Amino acid sequence: MVTAKHSLVCLFQQALSKGVRRYHASRVLCQRAKVAMSQFEPSEFVNYEKLEKNINIVRKRLDRPLTLSEKIVYGHLDDPAKQDIERGKTYLRLRPDRVAMQDATAQMAMLQFISSGLPRVAVPSTIHCDHLIEAQLGGEKDLRRAKDINQEVYNFLATAAAKRIFLHKSLLLSQIILENYSYPGVMLIGTDSHTPNGGGLGAICIGVGGADAVDVMAGIPWELKCPKVIGVKLTGSLSGWSSPKDVILKVAGILTVKGGTGAIIEYHGPGVDSISCTGMATICNMGAEIGATTSVFPYNSRMKTYLSKTGRAAIASLADEFQEHLKPDPGCPYDQLIEINLNELKPLINGPFTPDLAHTVEEVGAVAEKKGWPVDIRVGLIGSCTNSSYEDMGRSAAVAKQALAHGVKCKSQFTITPGSEQIRATIERDGYSKILRDVGGVVLANACGPCIGQWDRKDTKKGEKNTIVTSYNRNFTGRNDANPETHAFVTSPEIVTALSLAGTLKFNPEVDFLTGSDGKKFKLEPPDADELPKLEFDPGQDTYQHPPKDGSSQHVDVSPTSQRLQLLEPFDKWNGKDLEDMLILIKVKGKCTTDHISAAGPWLKFRGHLDNISNNLLIGAINIENDKANTVRNALTQEFGPVPDTARYYKDSCWFGQNLYPGPSYHQLSCKKDPMRGRRGVSFKREGIGYRNVSNNKDSSWIIPSTGLPATCCPKEGINWVVVGDENYGEGSSREHAALEPRHLGGRAIIVKSFIHPVDKLSIVGLKDFAPGKPLKCIIKHPNGSQETIVLNHTFNETQIEWFQAGSALNRMKELQKH
Ligand code: SF4
Repeated sequence: MVTAKHSLVCLFQQALSKGVRRYHASRVLCQRAKVAMSQFEPSEFVNYEKLEKNINIVRKRLDRPLTLSEKIVYGHLDDPAKQDIERGKTYLRLRPDRVAMQDATAQMAMLQFISSGLPRVAVPSTIHCDHLIEAQLGGEKDLRRAKDINQEVYNFLATAAAKRIFLHKSLLLSQIILENYSYPGVMLIGTDSHTPNGGGLGAICIGVGGADAVDVMAGIPWELKCPKVIGVKLTGSLSGWSSPKDVILKVAGILTVKGGTGAIIEYHGPGVDSISCTGMATICNMGAEIGATTSVFPYNSRMKTYLSKTGRAAIASLADEFQEHLKPDPGCPYDQLIEINLNELKPLINGPFTPDLAHTVEEVGAVAEKKGWPVDIRVGLIGSCTNSSYEDMGRSAAVAKQALAHGVKCKSQFTITPGSEQIRATIERDGYSKILRDVGGVVLANACGPCIGQWDRKDTKKGEKNTIVTSYNRNFTGRNDANPETHAFVTSPEIVTALSLAGTLKFNPEVDFLTGSDGKKFKLEPPDADELPKLEFDPGQDTYQHPPKDGSSQHVDVSPTSQRLQLLEPFDKWNGKDLEDMLILIKVKGKCTTDHISAAGPWLKFRGHLDNISNNLLIGAINIENDKANTVRNALTQEFGPVPDTARYYKDSCWFGQNLYPGPSYHQLSCKKDPMRGRRGVSFKREGIGYRNVSNNKDSSWIIPSTGLPATCCPKEGINWVVVGDENYGEGSSREHAALEPRHLGGRAIIVKSFIHPVDKLSIVGLKDFAPGKPLKCIIKHPNGSQETIVLNHTFNETQIEWFQAGSALNRMKELQKH
């Protein structure tokens, strides 16, 4: 509930901060007893009343204590009174409060949103330019280079953002969310897997695909499988070299990279209060590495301090009043419970090649020697969105300062990535950057850089075995520098700094000594640093772009000749008929994740250009017919070729090429207009069952006997095709491209796990009665004329069936607008 007391407090804060340019000023946070969600959106308010109302409805229905994540998630239900709620089973329809997008995924999300024709977004939304900046020479120079290379994309995002979207340049999405947009009880979705960082402020922040972001921006309820809840009870307190990073490295070691799938990790217990707010954010950030939907901490005084320091004291005051809804109920049930005693937690280092391979810092050197991993450290990298807080940088600087006092510099190369402009400017002002540079470090741009492989690494050749240590979150093969022989380990920033000074994994700062320039041995003391700056944060350069008041007439910048951006054309509407006699583009063997369907690497730059990126369609998938990747039989020519080319061939072909099979009843037909279509050199003639051809050797004179209607040669509709998948089809994070590309190239369905032969034809029938929970039928026609029918289960709900009938969700949105 918002009280008059609040409005007075807010007015007072407003008066205090008048005229001062700072990003986190408390001004404008309140209007008429309401508290603004962020300083950038003075007319969008924190809505704890709705949260409370929904929680009360659900609590009454479930009649049991609720976990914190249940309170926040169910508090955002579209229909709390009727929604089926069963953890791990039902699908929830939710109304998130806001959306955040990073620059790589925002391109397709914005193209889809533009295509919906909606004039403005339904919830506050932001774009963050962080992923497209490559680390090469250091901060300023790299930024200039990125602006040059990505000019076209940045212009597009800036103009597209006129739909009431706020743009942050050169700032890491999850860090900016923590500093500005996350607060206790908010639900936010972001097109970055590390969006859960915001859980450090008691929020439910979930990483999603661009298509989910479009749904929410368009005001459509967002679906999420009702998450299970894994409780992590923390007792004791952190001290010495142990840090928040060790909590998540420990949890990763216990749960492994899959252990959190479909669950929210909920931290609780007396140990929570010994962790700073940004430390809690680090723990939540890396929850993505164990597959968790997200992670969250209960509201406490550490969050209150952070909110106040970042100009959001009014939100903290409001959260105080609502705190019973921002903590778990006593005795709430968890699906799994883990207990960690922070008093016993040792500094950990996980890797290589997977973030769940946990070792203590004490033992890692010996393990590395035994396993043949290089013990010499080539590069130490601190920062990224995971560990770039003021406290992190302070603890690293505290380690570096001790070394400098003994005349010691880093033996390894050393880089620092500030997570935001505010952190960069503040650590520069407070002298941390100088210390880190003096010890041998290079300060990179406030961007993802080496964390996502945007690293023009010069010191090591591809294929050369080497070790790096980072305070990032992911260390999968090739993640940082595309070199499969780089052994990457993740650990806390202070341990990265200590190991970079020593230059080897065989160094444990808790017990080992370094040698000073005077030849004397010395031991590093555990670092001690302020959680937050004593002065206010320095906002640094203005990297924020506010959308215009009315952006409806804003021209969106997309050149028709662009190779990186392409406006989306609406997909065709369902014609009301069953999908008959579809060809099989590929029957996939084994796993087929989004990496197999839409490869990354050099293709990343085409993420805003559907036609260009479709040239990577399924190029990584193995064809069951020949055990090869990117080589499929063209059913019209019988020749083998790349998957995308074959899909395009079908898309541009006419139905008269469909008489494909050798045998007494079937004959090849070819198109006279283009003899390369259909089987080369074979003229069409009447024979067999199926179609009667009464051609007089002129185009457009073919007749479909079943209808008696003439058909035009090479009609533009193309030939429908399907993909038959095997396991894990579509698992991964590039889901909207994995869905859009097949559709763009003429695909009509993806059917998984079946006994279909690649040269069969498939029909999906019963579409007129398409309904939730009612299976469809698939008729498989074999080349020998026999056929069989299988039942196709589906998970479409009513809304999704409407999307199918309209041709796409975006088409449906447009239809609804017209009514
Ligand atoms: S810094 Fe790394 S983890 Fe964070 S958003 Fe960028 S790539 Fe992802």
